[in-house]
Amino acid sequence: MRKKTVTPEPEVVAPQILEQAKKALSADTIQRAAKCSVCGGECSPSPEEQLCWVCRRLKISAWRDADLQAGAQE
Ligand SMILES: [Zn+2]
Repeated sequence: MRKKTVTPEPEVVAPQILEQAKKALSADTIQRAAKCSVCGGECSPSPEEQLCWVCRRLKISAWRDADLQAGAQE
């Protein structure tokens, strides 16, 4: 009697799926890097500072206030 040798096929990950996974991973890291350093909100990645538009405006208005106060003290 002949025995049928059934070799289980190894799970082959399609290169396309691998590529998609890599892209998803890189996209994830980009999203993580593009978080506002103040409130953690969404923002565009910047090499200098990572601030969302809200915190950026707050920062600019804070600078203006500081300038006004400095001018009023004189
Ligand atoms: Zn923010």
